[in-house]
Amino acid sequence: MKAALITGANRGIGLEFSRQYAADGWRVFACTRHPQKSDALNTLAAEFPQQITVHALDVGDHAQIEQLAQSLTNESIDLLLNNAGIYTSCHKDDNIDQEAWMHSFLINTIAPLKMAQMFSPQIARGSQKSIVTISSKMGSIADNSSGGSYIYRSSKAAVNMVVKSLAIDLKTAGITAVVLHPGWVKTDMGGPNALISTAQSVSGMRNVIDHLTLADSGKFIAYDGKMIPW
Ligand code: NDP
Repeated sequence: MKAALITGANRGIGLEFSRQYAADGWRVFACTRHPQKSDALNTLAAEFPQQITVHALDVGDHAQIEQLAQSLTNESIDLLLNNAGIYTSCHKDDNIDQEAWMHSFLINTIAPLKMAQMFSPQIARGSQKSIVTISSKMGSIADNSSGGSYIYRSSKAAVNMVVKSLAIDLKTAGITAVVLHPGWVKTDMGGPNALISTAQSVSGMRNVIDHLTLADSGKFIAYDGKMIPW
């Protein structure tokens, strides 16, 4: 049975990843900040009791990441999905909230690296050996034609660089690391006017993930398989 570890699995894109991988027969380590309050995830886990286990994880808490890696030390993980993310608004004339900016970096940029560091041994034992980080086209410098969103854009551009370095550094271990753009998706973050459902986004991204090889490591790919310019 293949295994995926998914952060931010209690709602939105992460919950849909958990649903689709479990339905496809995968083992899912579903991580959420507040397991007791994660009703949708707990209901899903009850539907797939052999496959889904729910784990407490705030990705901003490095001690918690270390504890989780320790508790899963003997597992094989085929796919690490760094999905948890936050959008913090900041436009040209806004007061710059340094704390909010640092917090966005902690969650969107630093956490994926810490997760990769702590779970690389389990991933190296898996058959698929993939680390997938959900970034955003808003982190593409080449694609930025509308400005604004300083905090979110910079935190995602920075995680793109984190993953590019990981792709190089983990190649000898046979681990593929990529960033994916999920599309504009109807979630709490994407809002009701977004273009696609979580089901469409996740089935597209699963198709991309299924076909990844080591030669793809370091790429920035959209849910529909198109390459995104850096
Ligand atoms: P949602 O806002 O619906 O969900 C965000 C998820 O991240 C929640 O599960 C949330 O948990 C979790 N999360 C936030 N902070 C932390 C933390 N400190 N520790 C652990 N988990 C945390 O967003 P989406 O599902 O839409 O987004 C998923 C990913 O896709 C994000 O990385 C986002 O940037 C990216 N993305 C989304 C797009 C869209 O259109 N929706 C477009 C481009 C990229 P909790 O419930 O506890 O807050």
